[in-house]
Amino acid sequence: MKSEDTKTEKGSEPEYQENGMGINWFEAKRFLVTSLRNPMNVHMVDFDEYGGYGECSCEYFQFMIAPKLKQGKQPFKKCRHLRSAKRAMQNIQTLLD
Ligand SMILES: [Zn+2]
Repeated sequence: MKSEDTKTEKGSEPEYQENGMGINWFEAKRFLVTSLRNPMNVHMVDFDEYGGYGECSCEYFQFMIAPKLKQGKQPFKKCRHLRSAKRAMQNIQTLLD
C-alpha cells in the first residue's frame, strides 16, 4: 500500500493581479482588492450588491457611485477596484469551469 502526499489544492484562493492591485477571492461574489504599493489599502468588492453591479468600500464608490445607483441612475464609471475584481471574477469562473 502506497501512501500519497495528499495536499488539497482546492482550498487555495485564486489570486489575480492587475494595475498594481492584488485581487483575492474572499467568498461567493466577494473580493478583497489590495493595493500592492500600500498593503494597508484594502477594499471589499461585493457583486451581490446593486443587482449585480457590485459595491466597493472605497471612498470613490461611496461618494460618486453609490448615490447614483440609489437613484436608479447609471454611474459614469466604475472605480478601479470594481473593474479589476470583475475581470478577476471572470478569470476565476473560467478556471473553475
Ligand atoms: Zn473601489
